Formats: sequence, C-alpha cells, structure tokens
Amino acid sequence: MEKERKLIIVGNWKMNKTVAEALDLVQGLKRELAAVKEVDVVVCPPVTAIADVSKAILDSNIRLGAQNMSEHNGGAFTGEISAGMLKEFSVRYVILGHSERRQHQKECDGLIAKKALAAHAASLRPIVCVGETLAEREADQTKEVVGKQLEGSLAGLTKDQMVETVVAYEPVWAIGTGRNASADQAQTVHAFIRQVLASLFNEAVAKRVRIQYGGSVKSANARELMSQSDVDGALVGGASLEVRSFSDIIKNSI
Ligand code: PEP
Repeated sequence: MEKERKLIIVGNWKMNKTVAEALDLVQGLKRELAAVKEVDVVVCPPVTAIADVSKAILDSNIRLGAQNMSEHNGGAFTGEISAGMLKEFSVRYVILGHSERRQHQKECDGLIAKKALAAHAASLRPIVCVGETLAEREADQTKEVVGKQLEGSLAGLTKDQMVETVVAYEPVWAIGTGRNASADQAQTVHAFIRQVLASLFNEAVAKRVRIQYGGSVKSANARELMSQSDVDGALVGGASLEVRSFSDIIKNSI
C-alpha cells in the first residue's frame, strides 16, 4: 500500500520483560523483519533492558525508543532519566504523555511540552500521545479534548521540531481493552489532528507529521487502520510483546 508518509510502527513494552526476555523478543523480531524497508520499526523496552537491546539491534533495521524521560537535563531528580542518558544508548525516539502517565503520574500538557523540547534539544524524536476517555467521547468532546492536548503538549516547538515529532492518537477507551477505534473513527480524528497541526504550525508542516493510531492494534485490524489516508503507523502495547503478533502487524500494514 503506497503511503504519503513512511509508516512508523512502535512497540511499547511498558513494564514488561526481563533483560533475557527482551533479548529473546528482539532476536525474533530481527529474524522476522530483516527484509522490511517500508516501515520504521521501533521498540520501546523498559529502561532496564535498553542497554542490552541497543547492542542487540545494532546491525538491524529496528530502532530504539524509550517510554518516558525527564524534562530536566540532570541534577537532583531521584529516579529520573534524562534525554542525554538515553542518547548514550542510541535511543532515537521517546514516548511522551502516554495516557497511563497522564493518569497515574498526573502528567499535564505543560510538562509534556517541556519534555518534548528537552527531547529535541538532545536530538531525540518525541512521540506525543493524545486521546480522549470514553466519557469524553460519549459527551461529544473528542475534538475539544484532543485539540487542547495538542496545543498544550506541542507548545513552544519550532516548525522544524514539529516535523520531527510523531503524534500518537490513542483513545483511552481503546488501550488494552481489546476494543479498537474503527478505521473511520481513527481517520476522522487523525484528519482533525492534521488540521490542528496546520493551524498551530502550517499546512506544509502538518502534511509531513506522522500520526500514529494506538489502542488494541492487532494483526487482524492493522491493515484496515493503516490504509486510512491520515493514519501513518501504530503505537502497539499488548501485541508488541510477542514476535509473531508484532511482526504480523508490521507485515499486514505494508
Ligand atoms: C498503548 O499502551 O499505547 C497501547 C496502544 O496498548 P494496547 O495496544 O495494548 O491497546
């Protein structure tokens, strides 16, 4: 399937996988995906496995991402990890503002914007997550909520930085629930996100930004979701934890 923007499919392993399990998974992905050139494939292991996974994928087409980072460059911030520290392990992408962090760590748009700027300063590409809850969708507030998240979380980025930023639309009600947004629902919100990007930056920037869908993506629904004109990839949780399910999503998206 010919796409305007190169697809980017990212596996978010969340708080799963020991180092040994992580290495097993990437070795399998390397074998399965060696011939894939049409998609940027990224894995985001827990930070404890980043060093080993980084070495294991050196000679492959798989890229490395992190699940979070600090907005600070260094100093007295116990338990935090900076963009510079991630760069030491050749991390290229970082997921920011995932709904689990918005919910459990109370991350707000302002903080996510600071992290996005810190990521760019270290030449990491942020994957900025936005998405409405079920109650917000049912109250017909999806556009209002997503629009506000975009405006707040992307505040201060230059046009050049925005082009190197990935947006992930992840309806909260679809994450880990087995209930994905339909292709139509995803396309509608993705087209809206692109409109918001055009108004915050400009049309040319909006056209170049990759917008991923996330929320119960699996091999059975990947093709239909990825065939939508404004869907430029996927952020995958549960189905990224096994070689077969993650590689099938990628192969079915091409
Ligand atoms: C996610 O956590 O980003 C996600 C999309 O999870 P899942 O694929 O399990 O719904």
